[in-house]
Amino acid sequence: MSDDDVQLEARLEEQEVFEPPESFVEQANVTDEGIYEEFEENWPECWEDAAELLDWEESYDQVLNDSNPPFYEWFNGGTLNASANCIDRHLDERGDEAAIEWVGEPVDEEDVTYTYEDLHREVNEFAAALREQGVEEDDVVTMYMPMIPQLPIAMLACARIGAPHSVVFAGFSADALATRMNSADSEYLVTCDGYYRRGDPLDHLEKANEGLEGVEHDVETVAVAERLLDGDGFDHDYADNQVAFEELQSEHEGAEVDPVSRDAEDMLFLMYTSGTTGEPKGVKHTTAGYLSYVAWTSQAVLDIKPDDTYFCSADIGWITGHSYIIYGPLALGTTTTMYEGTPDYPDKDRLWEIIEDHDITQLYTAPTAIRSFMKWGEEYPDSHDLSSLRLLGTVGEPINPRAWKWYYKHIGKEDCPVVDTWWQTETGGMMLTTLPGVGDMKPGSAGPPLPGVSADIVDVSGSPVKAGEAGYLVVNKPWPGMLRTLYKNDERFIDEYWREYSNTDSDDPADWVYFPEDGAKIDQDGYITVLGRVDDVLNVSGHRLGTMEIESAIVGVEGVAEAAVVGGEHDIKGEAVYAYVITEDGYEEDEELRERIIESVEDAIGPIARPEAVIFTPELPKTRSGKIMRRLLEDIANGEELGDTSTLRNPDVVSDIQSKVGGD
Ligand code: ATP
Ligand code: MG
Repeated sequence: MSDDDVQLEARLEEQEVFEPPESFVEQANVTDEGIYEEFEENWPECWEDAAELLDWEESYDQVLNDSNPPFYEWFNGGTLNASANCIDRHLDERGDEAAIEWVGEPVDEEDVTYTYEDLHREVNEFAAALREQGVEEDDVVTMYMPMIPQLPIAMLACARIGAPHSVVFAGFSADALATRMNSADSEYLVTCDGYYRRGDPLDHLEKANEGLEGVEHDVETVAVAERLLDGDGFDHDYADNQVAFEELQSEHEGAEVDPVSRDAEDMLFLMYTSGTTGEPKGVKHTTAGYLSYVAWTSQAVLDIKPDDTYFCSADIGWITGHSYIIYGPLALGTTTTMYEGTPDYPDKDRLWEIIEDHDITQLYTAPTAIRSFMKWGEEYPDSHDLSSLRLLGTVGEPINPRAWKWYYKHIGKEDCPVVDTWWQTETGGMMLTTLPGVGDMKPGSAGPPLPGVSADIVDVSGSPVKAGEAGYLVVNKPWPGMLRTLYKNDERFIDEYWREYSNTDSDDPADWVYFPEDGAKIDQDGYITVLGRVDDVLNVSGHRLGTMEIESAIVGVEGVAEAAVVGGEHDIKGEAVYAYVITEDGYEEDEELRERIIESVEDAIGPIARPEAVIFTPELPKTRSGKIMRRLLEDIANGEELGDTSTLRNPDVVSDIQSKVGGD
């Protein structure tokens, strides 16, 4: 590093508040800080700003119906169609513009651009086919597909005919597919023959077929998109109810299907949460509230404009992909990018290559990915021209300040605001984050609630905690994008999200408080730092410590790439801190580093948080969505039998870690 670089690093390391870059503010969609007050004063009518982003067939006659909390309804009386909003209304002005830029994993394969016209044609043909197969309004159609264009085409075709979709992440097991189809009584499946992972074709249909064996009712139709290139396919005989996606479409070449008029509160889709905690929950999202909320947040937070080429690297199998690859960006008529593969294939610069080739204007990704980029080294982004980027975003878990600053400096070149967006499958869209053209950014803290969103940090009894103290995050008022219920299970909906802090006997909305099950703290400026799930809070000698806070202190240490902290049983303390640590390439797993880690935790939180053990490991057990399986690490720390490891992305790592703990 040159002297300048060293100085810059030192300055960045100290800096705790970052102003939005001026060049960004000059062109931002939202720049008036008065928006917070305006929304508060006009709540709930403020949300008409979101509704105005949509085209309505019938306009609504009530913004919010809160007569039966927590079963809130938004924009009652209005009718609209989500596929018409994401496609048809853009045809006149933007028909020839790209709606979806699709990038397949194989490097020598051509990218495919779907203009709004193309998307319109594909969606109509498939919608006609679904109808002919018997799909009616409100029938749930399951999709078990990776990042291939037929996935959004099928989703939008469903939206067009008023059939809710339920997308199951392609990396999930056959059992997960069966459980979800059974739970939703879904009689239709859209899947594919296979896809590419790190250069190899994967047989996906085999897994889908295995899943279908576990479905307890008749399955009418299985549409199979044929993704694999010639010569890479696997041999499968299609069953009687199975038919190629392309064949279904070509039977309806040129078909036009009128978008079905849907009531505002009609279900748009179901999304089962990843289920790292218990039985999967069928989160129900509706047409108007959800679509207006994701369109509004895409505009205000991601700063999306029609001429952008926006890229979210999540998978459409997660809510992030639903809201911020498909529905939000397409509702705004922009170009959204879809990448099939992993960021390290064929090399660790694949994302940077995509950004350079497509002149990407916004990148929305996850902290776990950013920590991998850091570990791989800045030479990968440095070898590409990333100057088209205007905004960076993160979602999925807390981002530690060191990773935030790396992202800001090495990807954004200190010219792009970073929005750290806290939200959940259940919230439909973003809830806590800075507005990039308005608020200062504080690395490690998501920021204040969005305008119109009312959140607090409370103690066990529900009273707000003081600035700086850890507590529980709650949301006090409904918002348009919120889940309406858990599919066919209103009681569980109340139990899971409301019972904790509400007076469930009351009809007064003021007595109902949504509990996302995350711990958090708030600073004197109202910025919220989410510490992680409440089941990730440790109780060490009576002190409640957020695992995320300790992890953040550890990953702030030079040489540490990633860390996971769990509680291990302890005779005296109740729980003790166990830290699992991955080192950055080029650093020794030695006593010196161990000491620095312990010191950093003591400095950041206090001696009470001093780790009982620091265990170096080459990898951490992760779920398919990239979240650390803390429960498993806890079992290892406690020397217990391990539960189900089948949902892990990397099951082999478990025995490695076990042997290390044994020998430590
Ligand atoms: P499940 O609910 O099925 O156990 P999950 O909670 O991991 O799975 P998601 O809805 O995808 O499923 O994730 C939402 C959770 O992710 C939040 O509740 C929070 O714990 C975490 N999260 C998301 N974004 C952020 C962020 N910016 N900062 C901190 N935590 C975040
Ligand atoms: Mg959750």
